[in-house]
Amino acid sequence: MKKTLFALVSCFLISPAFAEGDKDPGTSLSFRQLLSRVAVSNSSLALPEPAAIVVKDDLGLLADDRSWITVSAADKFQRTRLLELGLDIVEVDRGSVRGFARESAMREITDKGFRIDDKVSIYNFDKDFPAADAAYHNLEETMDVLRGLAAAHPEETSLFSIGKSVEGRDIWALRINPAEKGEAPSARPGAFFMANHHAREHLTNEVALLFAVWLLENKNSAEVRKYLDTLDIHIIPVSNPDGKAFDIATGKYKWWRKNRSVNPGGTYGVDLNRNYDARWCKAGASTSPSADTYCGPSAFSEPETRAIRDFVLARPNIKTLLSYHTYSELILYPWAGSAEPLENKTDLKVFETMAKQFAGFTGYVPQQSSDLYVATGDTTDWAYMARNIFAFTFELTPKRWGGGGFYPGAGVIEKTVRDNIKAAMYMLSVTDDPYKLAR
Ligand SMILES: [Zn+2]
Repeated sequence: MKKTLFALVSCFLISPAFAEGDKDPGTSLSFRQLLSRVAVSNSSLALPEPAAIVVKDDLGLLADDRSWITVSAADKFQRTRLLELGLDIVEVDRGSVRGFARESAMREITDKGFRIDDKVSIYNFDKDFPAADAAYHNLEETMDVLRGLAAAHPEETSLFSIGKSVEGRDIWALRINPAEKGEAPSARPGAFFMANHHAREHLTNEVALLFAVWLLENKNSAEVRKYLDTLDIHIIPVSNPDGKAFDIATGKYKWWRKNRSVNPGGTYGVDLNRNYDARWCKAGASTSPSADTYCGPSAFSEPETRAIRDFVLARPNIKTLLSYHTYSELILYPWAGSAEPLENKTDLKVFETMAKQFAGFTGYVPQQSSDLYVATGDTTDWAYMARNIFAFTFELTPKRWGGGGFYPGAGVIEKTVRDNIKAAMYMLSVTDDPYKLAR
């Protein structure tokens, strides 16, 4: 807070409008008046958001005023309210939640009567990506793997971009289907795997990417071949390339979640998993651009979500979808955006059956997404609403912050990938007709 005040005062001191004298003829506010405003604001804890300063430091954590906090919350309705107040909930316990919040959000949270039990500044857990976690694939290495797969398996694969990010990076899809290539339509049932929607969830890229590698290395086994001969499989390992690049750009993790849109006011990022047109920006999303759960100015305001939307709508053959996130070891299915269970009982049976089977392979806990908290505008609700796709969110390893949170280290990659290959193969096994599970 001291740092923020100092930065604000520095801005005023060097501003050319005030260098010429005390008075700004346009707005008639004197330098002294402005200073006194800052002082008054500070004492009443209503400082303006330091957004303009954040922009100047967009490669570092210096202006990141987020803290990792623990807040008392009795039930999913209180958890939903906290999301709306700008808390980026990461862990849920009976009676409390933990996650990231900026100073402004923390003030809102306490103003609304919630109790913050613990608070640690984000500076205190900055970690090094390249040295400690070199096994993880950055964007370039991910592309190298994808290109390598496409080159080594030209009969079975094609590689294409489904669109560009805010900063102009391609969002790459690997298609595994020997019968149809590129963007040619298919009558085969489709399975769609996507990952790294949220920037800091790097383990998800590993799971999606290495599943592709495993499938193609085992393409001649009977187990895999039957799917290559009958299904249309797409894998998008990085859905948010700008965010991913930003999170590791300096060799220090930034705990970045959103994409890299420049918001009005100078903050960055929209939460892509709140930006889909499914009860958009109702419960569990924030309208504050600085919040980690910011839903964006409108549904599908972001090029990344529009690319996914157009990709899905152009492929009515897609039957199943798996969106990988971290962390908590959960298997989540719609609704995310409503506390009510799915209205269609047949569909609910399919979702529940698949979730239980997924759980058997991974050890993760299956539940309706909104049992955690209600969150509107996510991928899975939209995919189910728009195209009746059986769409799941996995929250991968670890279970708790103590297991490394978003950065659990390279040691967890192998087991997580292996467990999830089994789950992904199970998804392929029902993609021909998910409704067989309800009969
Ligand atoms: Zn996520």
